[in-house]
Parts: sequence; structure tokens; C-alpha cells
Amino acid sequence: MPFSLLKLGLKKDGAPPRALPTPTDLKPSYDVVIVGGGGHGLATAYYLARDWGVTDVAVLEKSYIGSGNTGRNTMVIRSNYLTPDGVRFYDASVRLYRDLAHDFDLNLMLSERAQITLAHTDAQMRSMRWRDEVSRHFGIRSDLVGRDELRRLVPFMNLSDDVRFPVLGALVHHPGSIARHDAVAWGYGSGAWKRGVEIHQNTEVTGFGIESANGGRKVTEVHTDRGTVKAGKVIQCVAGMSGEVARMAGIKLPIKTFPLQACVTQPLKRFLDPLVSSAQHHVYMSQTARGEVVIGGGSDPYTRYNTDATLEMKEAWMVGVLEIFPFLAEIKILRQWAGMTDMTPDYSPVMGKSEVKNYYLDAGWGTWGFKATPICGKTNAELIARDETPELIEAFSLERFSTFKLLDDKAATAASH
Ligand SMILES: Cc1cc2nc3c(=O)[nH]c(=O)nc-3n(C[C@H](O)[C@H](O)[C@H](O)COP(=O)(O)OP(=O)(O)OC[C@H]3O[C@@H](n4cnc5c(N)ncnc54)[C@H](O)[C@@H]3O)c2cc1C
Repeated sequence: MPFSLLKLGLKKDGAPPRALPTPTDLKPSYDVVIVGGGGHGLATAYYLARDWGVTDVAVLEKSYIGSGNTGRNTMVIRSNYLTPDGVRFYDASVRLYRDLAHDFDLNLMLSERAQITLAHTDAQMRSMRWRDEVSRHFGIRSDLVGRDELRRLVPFMNLSDDVRFPVLGALVHHPGSIARHDAVAWGYGSGAWKRGVEIHQNTEVTGFGIESANGGRKVTEVHTDRGTVKAGKVIQCVAGMSGEVARMAGIKLPIKTFPLQACVTQPLKRFLDPLVSSAQHHVYMSQTARGEVVIGGGSDPYTRYNTDATLEMKEAWMVGVLEIFPFLAEIKILRQWAGMTDMTPDYSPVMGKSEVKNYYLDAGWGTWGFKATPICGKTNAELIARDETPELIEAFSLERFSTFKLLDDKAATAASH
């Protein structure tokens, strides 16, 4: 047992040091206000303080940190997207994840075990080959495999022809990983706080003070349910509420909010090492260190600001799950939950400057933003500190919807997360 743990156990008042701040009053003004205390907001605060020395920062979170999609996702981390802009961006994030536990001095339980995307048709094999080649072009370990190799990688998978959608082959993305999502939020939150950032939980942003400036508009204030603060710069990192919060600043985003659900089974003896997904069945799964199987799929088919878990969605996943792993019919589902996801038409994020001066966007993370948390924090911090868009996120600007430079990562995003 480490000596420090023994000392803590024997101490009379025994309370461990706080990982996060006790609540304080809001100051009258901040250089930077970050709206939303999920992974993206906290990572932005962390890198602003660590890399740019910007510490007069407040993160305003309407609930508790990580209570949004950061604490609800299925933890898939990967970079095998289709567009070169997407692949470069997510690959930079995957690389940052590898050093995070060391940066935070906190075990994130990052587990690199490859992600396998199944192909059930010739068209899907062609699309996997395309993604394989884009990945290889960027130096990312990737393989296109047939059934024999799949049998070796996932021995319990049903590879029979006697099913509705027989598996033909798969894309194996070697860096595919999972990490404990709440630890990512805590790591960024406590790292930012230790460097002087204020984190205000239970503080809802209700509007913005916007002034006319040089023929345009400029943000100067943030209104909250605890009063108004002046702000030099503001970034919104509010996932499922992206459209609503942007509207408060007078900005219209091409975003619709859909619920996204997931579930987890009772723990089982380890049978599944890689993450497995099938766009044909619209389902994906992985097995956690505790042995639970985490299962998810695509978004609900209708827009809603709601986090209900539905029987219909569970039934739809199970059709696919049981075709791939029939023996799972014997096990129980322990929990099912949902988050609200902000979907863009091209399944790519919206990042960068907005039409309102000093108001920045981190939105459109849909079903795929957990993996992007570190690189979002890094690039958002640079954007805010320099008021210049980092090259890595130029393609994700809001203007792409008026210049018709859409990215279209749908094929690589849906149901793989
Ligand atoms: C079921 C599910 C599975 C998913 N699986 C994956 C996956 O496997 N891999 C992956 O990469 N991504 C996945 N995602 C998507 C991913 O979780 C999100 O894209 C990502 O967490 C977004 O992070 P964030 O910090 O932007 O948002 P969030 O974590 O949602 O944080 C936003 C915060 O803003 C706060 N907020 C909102 N409005 C206000 C306001 N007015 N004032 C103050 N605060 C406000 C919210 O309370 C919330 O805490 C999944 C999502 C869901 C729901």
C-alpha cells in the first residue's frame, strides 16, 4: 500500500483533498467565459491556463460538471473517419489521449484494443477499403480483413452465412480505444482549477449582452441565473443545447437536436477485446474492464430535447446484437440512458469564430465528440488566446454551410461513434 494512502487512512480528520473547488461568488468580469462544463468546456479552460497562461477564466455549468454527454457517452475513441480533415483532427485527439493520464496524474483507464467495423455487403467492403486507405495515408494503423482473421480477433462472433446479414469482412482500426469518460471531465476540471480557473456549477447562462461594433456585433456580457458578468471573450461548449445557446447570441446554427441512447448489460467473463460496430445493424458494442457490455446505436429518429430511454430503441439494437453474438440472448440489461446530441447535416462539428466578435463556437458534436475532447480543448484555447483559427479546425467553420464546402463524414460516423 502506498505510504500516502496509509497516512490518509490514519489521519483523524481523514478527508481527502478536494478535486474541485468549493462554490464562490461570480466575479464582476472575466477575460474568458466558457459556457458548459462538459469535457470540451473544461479541456478548453485547462489548455487556456496551461498552454497560454490565460487564467482569468470562468466555466459556467448549469448542472454539475460532466452531467451532459461527457458522462453519458459510450467512450469510443478512434480516428478512422473518411474525410482527410476529419481523420487528421481525430488522430491528433487520439494522440493527446495517450498522454492524458500522465498530464493529470489520474488513471483514465484508457484501453487501446482496436475498433472493428463490420461489412455485410460489397458496397460496405468498398467503403471500408476507402476508409482504410485514408487512414493509411495519414500513417494510422489500419487493416481490411476477411472472415478468417475476424474469427481469430473475435472468436465468439457469429460468422455463419445462415443469418439475415452475413459478415463479409471488416475494417480494423488499431488505435480504437475506450477511456473512463467521467475521469476525463474530472482530470480537465481539476487541472484547470489548480491553475486558477473558476468553475461554477449550478450556474445557467440565460443570455448575452451584445453591442454594435464597427458595423458588426460584439459580445460583452454573459447573463446567468446568478447575475450578469462582463466577458472579454466567450465560447459555447454546450453539446445538445448548441442551437438554443447560439440563438441567445443571435446566431443561427444548422443544427438539430436528437436524443441518443445506450445501455449496458450485467458483467460477463471477458469475451470481447476489440470494439465492434455494424452500420448495417446500426449497432456497436464494447466490453468494459468490469465485464459489462456497452451497447449503442444511431440517434432517435425524431428531434427532441429529452433524455428518455425507450423500449423501441433497445429492441432495434438487440436485433443486430443477437445476430452478431447470439449467446447474449441469455443476459440481462442493467441500465439504459440517453443524452441529447447536436447533429449537423454533414456529421462534422462547427468550430471557430462566429459572426459575433469574440464569441466562439464549439458545437455540432452529435454522437462523436467524446473522442475529440482533448483536441477541441487544445484548438479552442489557441483560437481564443490568439483570436486566430488554428489550421487543424479551419475546415469546420460555420461558413462552410454558406460556401457549400461540406465535409460529409456521415458514412464514418453513424453507429460507430
Ligand atoms: C449515449 C451517447 C453515446 C455517445 N457515444 C460516444 C462515443 O462513443 N464516442 C464519442 O466520441 N462520442 C460519443 N457521444 C457524443 C459525446 O458524448 C459528445 O459529443 C461530447 O461528450 C460532447 O462534449 P461537450 O463537452 O461538448 O458536451 P457535454 O458533456 O454535453 O457538456 C455540455 C454542458 O453544457 C451545459 N449547458 C447546457 N446549456 C447550458 C447553459 N445555458 N448554461 C450553462 N451550462 C449549460 C450542460 O449541462 C452540459 O454539462 C455519445 C453521446 C451520447 C449521448
